[in-house]
This record gives sequence, structure tokens and C-alpha cells, in this order.
Amino acid sequence: MAKAPLAEMLIESVKMELPDTKTMHIKWPDGYDCEFKTGQFITTFWADTPTYKRAYSLSSCALDRGFFEVTIKREGKMGTRVVDWAKAGDKIMILPPAGRFLPVYDPPGKHLICIAGGSGITPFRGFAREATRRQLDTRITILYSVRTTGDIIFNEEFRQLEAENPKLQFLVSCTRLGAEDPWPGRRGRITPEYVKTLVTDAANTVFYACGPAALVDAAEHLVMGDLGLPKQQCILEKWG
Ligand SMILES: Cc1cc2nc3c(=O)[nH]c(=O)nc-3n(C[C@H](O)[C@H](O)[C@H](O)COP(=O)(O)OP(=O)(O)OC[C@H]3O[C@@H](n4cnc5c(N)ncnc54)[C@H](O)[C@@H]3O)c2cc1C
Repeated sequence: MAKAPLAEMLIESVKMELPDTKTMHIKWPDGYDCEFKTGQFITTFWADTPTYKRAYSLSSCALDRGFFEVTIKREGKMGTRVVDWAKAGDKIMILPPAGRFLPVYDPPGKHLICIAGGSGITPFRGFAREATRRQLDTRITILYSVRTTGDIIFNEEFRQLEAENPKLQFLVSCTRLGAEDPWPGRRGRITPEYVKTLVTDAANTVFYACGPAALVDAAEHLVMGDLGLPKQQCILEKWG
């Protein structure tokens, strides 16, 4: 298949995931086709400001055909325009998917430990969706660091996927909850000691980390420094 071209696409619908985070469901135009992989990102821009481009990980997966989904946090110029202004019926320019932040589903028997903070969860929704729909035997453990329970993106969808897929675990750690909060889950940062309790077969474990530079750097240090695993077992997607 020829490489997909740059295309103007219709934002078919939008969904506020949190007060500062929006998913755009972007429809492929007629005749558009595209080979891509779960975990890749698309590059977006508005036709009225073609030099201002921003990359967004696909929060949909490669089994989702006919559309892309991206989930964007209000940040600076692009994030604010999307979260505050983008609506169904608008059009946006899309460069085809790219990137090497890909889940290792083959050979079978791998354990993917995915570390995310904030909106860095986006590509892992794709990982979990694809593995669940294909009923893969790949174990996926998502370690999601958020400040409070109000910051968890895709909570319901991950809980649903967990119910369908016994190989998937969605483990949230809250770093800034008040002592009075009834949250029964884990509190505090993702520490090496905690991660070590989750690794059962180090040779077959692949770590992923996605999001802002500070979180990704910390995860890299944890995997290659504290756990002593080689670079090939640590796949990183740094956003800034
Ligand atoms: C491969 C990849 C995948 C990504 N996937 C996602 C994703 O799934 N979801 C997502 O939300 N993001 C994602 N990002 C990040 C995204 O590309 C943008 O970097 C992000 O949306 C910020 O762009 P912006 O135009 O909104 O912010 P910019 O305008 O570029 O601003 C960046 C930062 O600077 C600050 N800033 C801007 N102007 C000023 C100023 N005058 N004074 C002080 N501070 C200022 C802003 O508050 C912001 O924090 C990804 C990045 C990469 C590389």
C-alpha cells in the first residue's frame, strides 16, 4: 500500500474525558487508506496555521479502521484550541501515523509494563484495546501515576477492558490525595521497590514509558538503573 498522504479530515465527534482533556474522533476522508500500528502518533495542524504542527499519540488502535482518535490535554496553543474550541464538524489536517513506540505482541508470552503519567496514558489505551480484542496472551500491566482520582483518563474503559481481559491490569497510583479521601488504591509515586514486585520474568518483560520528559527520564532510570535491564527492554516516548 502506498504511504497515506497528508489529508484534511472531519472531526466527527468530540468527548471531554476530563475538564482539561478532550478526545477527537477524526474520520478518514473517502478513498483514504492507511497502514499503521498501535502506539504510533499522527501530526496535526489547522489549515489556517500550517506551520504550527503538533504530534499526538493515537489513543485508538490499529484494529480501528476508518478513523483516528487522539486525546489531548489543554496546554499551550494547540492544546487550548483543541480542548476549548474544536467541535464536531470542524476539519483538521493530518499527517500519516509514524513512530516506533510499538507494543511487542510477538513472540507470545511477553509482559509489557507500561508507565504513564497524566495524558501519557493515551497510547496505552491502544495497546490494551488491541490485545483485548485479539485475545492475545500478552500480559499488560499499566502503571498510571495521577495526582488525584479526578485526573484519571479513560478509567471506565480500562476497567471494562480489565473485566474482559484477565491478562490486563490497570494500576493507578495517586500522588496528591488528601488523607481523608476514601480511594482504596495505591498512593504515592511509582518506586523501584513497587515495580520490582510486579516483575515475574525479567527476561520476557518489556517496559514502556510515555509522557512529559521528567516522567520518562525517571522511568528510564528506574528500568535501566534500578532494575538493571538492557536498553532493548525499555521503549520510551518523550513528549517534550
Ligand atoms: C510523539 C508525541 C506524542 C504526543 N502525544 C500527546 C497526546 O496523546 N496528548 C497530549 O496532550 N499531548 C501529546 N503530545 C504533546 C503535544 O505534541 C504538544 O507538545 C502539547 O499538546 C503542547 O502543545 P501546545 O501547542 O498546546 O503547547 P505550546 O504552545 O507548545 O506550549 C508548550 C508549553 O509551554 C507553555 N507555554 C506556552 N507559551 C508560554 C508562555 N508565553 N509563557 C509561559 N509558558 C508558556 C504551555 O503552557 C505549555 O505547557 C505528544 C508529543 C509527542 C512528541
